[in-house]
Amino acid sequence: MSLIVAKFGGTSVATPERIKRVADRLIAMKEAGNQVVAVVSAMGSTTDQLVAMANAVNENPPTRELDRLLGTGEQVSMTLLSMAIEAKGHKSMSFSGRQAGILTDGTHAKAKIVSIDSKRILDALDDGFIPVVAGFQGIDKNGDMTTLGRGGSDTTAVAVAWGINADVCEIYSDVDGVYTADPRVCPRARKLSSISYDDMLELSGAGTGVLNMRAVEFARKFNVVIHSRSAFSDAEGTYVKEALPMMEEAVITGIAYDVSQIKLTVRGVPDMEGVAAKMFGMLAEQGVNVNMIIQNVSEDGHTDISFTCPSADTDKARETVEQITSEVKARDWTLSDDIAMVSLVGTGMKSAPGVAAKAFATMAANDINILAISTSPIRLSIVVNRSQSSAAVCALHNAFGLDSDSDFEETQLSAEEILAKMAKGR
Ligand code: ADP
Ligand code: ASP
Ligand code: MG
Repeated sequence: MSLIVAKFGGTSVATPERIKRVADRLIAMKEAGNQVVAVVSAMGSTTDQLVAMANAVNENPPTRELDRLLGTGEQVSMTLLSMAIEAKGHKSMSFSGRQAGILTDGTHAKAKIVSIDSKRILDALDDGFIPVVAGFQGIDKNGDMTTLGRGGSDTTAVAVAWGINADVCEIYSDVDGVYTADPRVCPRARKLSSISYDDMLELSGAGTGVLNMRAVEFARKFNVVIHSRSAFSDAEGTYVKEALPMMEEAVITGIAYDVSQIKLTVRGVPDMEGVAAKMFGMLAEQGVNVNMIIQNVSEDGHTDISFTCPSADTDKARETVEQITSEVKARDWTLSDDIAMVSLVGTGMKSAPGVAAKAFATMAANDINILAISTSPIRLSIVVNRSQSSAAVCALHNAFGLDSDSDFEETQLSAEEILAKMAKGR
């Protein structure tokens, strides 16, 4: 008998029919002798619709109200799932973030979990119920509802799993595990049977939407085993866990891409000390999260400085750069949102020379222009034009020997669908 937390994402609970299928699945787990706690996301694109409604009445909705509004999405799905389970003759009880004892800090829209009191969930399990917990939400110390950031239900699931000391945190979605690249972009991607926390954290941080980065961070910190698997099949998925010392390290574990960044360039910046400090100091003061920085070779005492930051920071970045340009007497500035960051990730990269050279040669061979580069010991990221991002992912996947012999069978997404998914996951 295992104690299982099973999280179902928006696609898996998108319709009443799908909710009934999730109920069947939970009941089957229970009837097999397990104890199971469900965590759910809002149905389908409910959260996007709620955000759109908020923006329709207020361009800048107060975050306290927005969190209260968004929290309703998960409260609809949790109650419907409990009702569906009851309709099939099993006891179930739903719990909002507050009822599940999830206390967060007060940072609306990206709250962090401070503590979790699992007593009610454990009592419900002991009494034979299937508890269903609303993902994505908690309360702060004032009793106000908070949300954990887009894609945050994964984090709720891991936190609940830790709180009740579950054997495994199963995260169900529309893919049957973590692949070496998004299989909808790169059909030759291969499913991984397991992946270390470190590799998964780097992949999620570089844009791999299948598992939320904060959930992986939490799991690594508290050693919660995640099983990423399909809501629509029984196939064994991917285990995210501590790497065994015996595990052979692949040089490259996977390729990620991120279309949520923009690039700004300040041109004709006087090349003298203190200018970069001033620029990035001003950006930091405005809370712009700078990711990559590129400074060109100076010519005639002037240089160009580019940086990337999340598109969510566009307004702040634009205003700050305008001010910087006039303060440091630079020539002008430009902004491009037509970029994508493609990353090679692998713990084995640490001890493998030549990864960068091979990646750059692959880009050149495929006529893909590199706009910026950044590295960490286990990641190499390249910024390219957005229209070339899928080609870059597939070319790198092939060049680093990750291609499988057969194609991923399910739907391949259009570029727009990929963008919409990516925007949601961040
Ligand atoms: P949910 O809404 O259930 O939380 P997500 O949309 O967040 O599900 O995550 C599943 C999606 O992640 C898949 O549809 C897939 O397109 C995408 N994805 C991106 N990179 C990968 C990868 N390396 N492996 C598997 N899926 C990936
Ligand atoms: N419903 C929230 C979102 O769409 C949280 C989640 O699905 O994980 O971001
Ligand atoms: Mg998700």
